[in-house]
Amino acid sequence: TEFVNVIGAGLAGSEAAWQIAEAGVSVRLYEMRPEKSTEAHHTSDFAELVCSNSLRGNSLANAVGVLKEEMRRLNSVIITSADETAVPAGGALAVDRDSFSATVTKKVKEHPNVTVISEEITEIPSGITVIATGPLTSSKLADAIKAYNGSDGFYFYDAAAPIIDKSTIDMDKVYLKSRYDKGEAAYLNCPMTKDEFHAFREALITAEVAPLKTFEKEKYFEGCMPIEVMAARGEKTMLFGPMKPVGLEDPKTGKRPYAVIQLRQDNAAASLYNIVGFQTHLKWGEQKRVFQMIPGLENAEFVRYGVMHRNSFMNSPELLRPTYQSVKRDDLFFAGQMTGVEGYVESAASGLLAGKNAARLALGQAVQTMPKETVIGSMAYYITHAEGKHFQPMNANFGLLPELPERIRDKKVRYQTLAERALTHLAQTEI
Ligand code: FAD
Repeated sequence: TEFVNVIGAGLAGSEAAWQIAEAGVSVRLYEMRPEKSTEAHHTSDFAELVCSNSLRGNSLANAVGVLKEEMRRLNSVIITSADETAVPAGGALAVDRDSFSATVTKKVKEHPNVTVISEEITEIPSGITVIATGPLTSSKLADAIKAYNGSDGFYFYDAAAPIIDKSTIDMDKVYLKSRYDKGEAAYLNCPMTKDEFHAFREALITAEVAPLKTFEKEKYFEGCMPIEVMAARGEKTMLFGPMKPVGLEDPKTGKRPYAVIQLRQDNAAASLYNIVGFQTHLKWGEQKRVFQMIPGLENAEFVRYGVMHRNSFMNSPELLRPTYQSVKRDDLFFAGQMTGVEGYVESAASGLLAGKNAARLALGQAVQTMPKETVIGSMAYYITHAEGKHFQPMNANFGLLPELPERIRDKKVRYQTLAERALTHLAQTEI
């Protein structure tokens, strides 16, 4: 009787284990937490969200929304659990992080085909295996993977935003609103005048940052740039980024503030809020000093400060096939952020595909590549066909899909057409 090893019960590993088990194949799921943790995890639950509680856009008007819909249709445990534990977040799918992880843990652990083994894996196992140990893979296994792949893994930094206790926010100074009043009003907005903005920017730029570890070269991924780095880029950079005021007119005055900082609900009880886009590497004391300059946050209590972490990924264009199989070994799969997909949903999606293919292999069936017209297939194609030299992690986006036969100028119609095409191709593929 054939079984499959899955290493790591994060976003990708939990999804992979679920897919294999659902295909009727036995799974041995290895997870090192809680005996050994990473720099970013805080619990022993599977699929812990290490930073934001948002799984981003949920409509078919954006690629990550289409990806979610594809995953629902492919019986994803991550997306169905997110749907079950969602909290209000405008057009996004945000979750109560504790219930979300508890739900995934319960479903995977209680599956009759899954055996969970609490253990750190330090060597690449033989037999059909999915490695999904994430951007913070423990160092011994990271060394083993580097040795196996025969090429350097790289490092870059990721940054996490601070979380605030809502009861310490001055509600007279902030207002509830979603940008352009889309969906339910879900964000608390802290408006700033021009003078306040400039004083704040100055404080951000001059604040003290935590020391960088020397073995890791400083390299930011654009999507997760620390706010102080963004502030230093230019006077207007934040105003076109996380402090953009358009669509956020103050309902009391009808006027648009010079700048706005948004707070997003972080748990179902709405007792915690995170500062949207404010990943930071400032020292914790400095975070308190600078972020308390934000109108409404003068007395805010930070339940978690922003942090920065190592984030490693492989040079997949040279090392992987679009089935997430290693080029060197048919029965070895990699999945999740370590393959160069970027984000919670993207990580889970790669785990889904790797898991389904590992199960097919165990059942003696041919592995299956997903069509490039689907978002899940476009990600797998991108990370295995991008230019290897400058390979950077990638979020799901419509730009990865093959062009439409004729150019549609209206963006809304174009995206809708791409979304429909993706779901049609998905329905025609058996996996
Ligand atoms: P993980 O979810 O990290 O899962 C890997 C699992 O493997 C963990 O449970 C770990 O304990 C286990 N493990 C590691 N080594 C071993 C071993 N040797 N043996 C056994 N088990 C092992 N994405 C977003 O979409 N939004 C965000 O806000 C966001 N913020 C991030 C913040 C930080 C600090 C980091 C590092 C990443 C962030 N990401 C974010 C990127 C990415 O989406 C997450 O890292 C995501 O968790 C990746 O999923 P994964 O399954 O690849 O890895």
